[in-house]
Amino acid sequence: SAGEVADTFGFGAYVVGGFVRDMFLCRSNEDVDIVVEGSGIAFAREFARIHNARVHTYEKFGTAVVILPDGFKIDVVTARMEYYRFPADLPTVEMSSIKLDLYRRDFTINTLAIRLNADRFGILIDFFAAQKDIKEKAIRILHNLSFVEDPTRVFRAIRFEQRFGFTIGKLTSGLIRNAVKMDFFKKLSGRRTFNELRHIFEEENPTPAIERMHDYDLLRIIHPDLRPDRKLIANFMAVKKVLAWHDLLFLDEAYLRWVVYFMVLIRQFDRETTRQICEKFAMSPRHQVIFCKDRFLADRCLFYLGRNIPLKNSILYRELSAFRAELLLYMMAVTRSRAIKKGISQYFTHLRHITTSVKGRDLKAMGIEPGPVYREILDAILDARLNGKLRSRDDEINFVR
Ligand code: ATP
Repeated sequence: SAGEVADTFGFGAYVVGGFVRDMFLCRSNEDVDIVVEGSGIAFAREFARIHNARVHTYEKFGTAVVILPDGFKIDVVTARMEYYRFPADLPTVEMSSIKLDLYRRDFTINTLAIRLNADRFGILIDFFAAQKDIKEKAIRILHNLSFVEDPTRVFRAIRFEQRFGFTIGKLTSGLIRNAVKMDFFKKLSGRRTFNELRHIFEEENPTPAIERMHDYDLLRIIHPDLRPDRKLIANFMAVKKVLAWHDLLFLDEAYLRWVVYFMVLIRQFDRETTRQICEKFAMSPRHQVIFCKDRFLADRCLFYLGRNIPLKNSILYRELSAFRAELLLYMMAVTRSRAIKKGISQYFTHLRHITTSVKGRDLKAMGIEPGPVYREILDAILDARLNGKLRSRDDEINFVR
């Protein structure tokens, strides 16, 4: 019906990009992108009206997001009509607006489109040999100035290459080396650069991408001393395992994967160097606190736990309850002590949910004068409970008496 809506306006409409690519790769993709030749905003409003959907529009960019009642999301963009400016004053080529829109994209594999209009509904449009490159498992840019235009594509190339098990094409690879040699990245803002890096650390397995970044001498964008040595690779593998463990048990608890990987990546650096890295990438204050402060507290905590083996539950609880999930997962991944790892997992699955059943008001009912002593009593009950000495509410009450 998207096609019908487009037809009523006389617009061309196409499903494009990742969704079509993933169809050919037999991978699921929850995001649908539609390109409209005309007004993407008018199309999105009408489509949303018919489907009882919510719509957010961004007039300045001619884009909109439609959210259907079941939560399904559709991104709508307007195929830009203005002439494409070739940086080197190449002859301007006549192109239909969908072709022009696709020509601006990052890699050939992302340039497939399917027509939605009734006239030629469902035909596959492949201007740039995307099907051939999918068959050849190749990541290729569309023209030689692609990385000049947008150097973040270098990171995207590596991310797609590793995600799909493809290979970056020879010419594209040469252009990446050139981009690194000429340091195209210096004109990029730290925020944009980091945004692409973050996507790499959100991938299922970022380890090979890190090695690939090293092949292209790209890790120096994070820090000149960064190398994927055996220790770093082992830690990355450990993160992958720990995250898989966590996701299996706590499917619905959200956390940021990239944060765990990034902490491990920059673990070798001291506080001041870490601060400089955060600054360079213009990280939000919230993330700066995690990398510059919490991460160091977590390392100190690991050291402390190491000196208190065998670990009592009350110690685990006291030491770990201040840390958010990302930090606990980080600690599990980097510790070499089985006892600590087991202790943290025990905290995760168990201890963190334990509370006392006796509360302040019970103490009051027992005739204890309110004051700082309440905290001490309740803490003592919790400790005893954590260490398995109290099992019921009656036990707790007797303990107080
Ligand atoms: P993912 O599964 O990671 O979301 P995707 O292909 O959907 O993959 P997005 O980053 O969501 O990737 O981008 C959507 C589309 O926009 C892509 O298919 C791509 O063609 C285009 N695109 C995104 N970033 C760029 C860029 N820097 N330069 C050119 N085209 C881009």
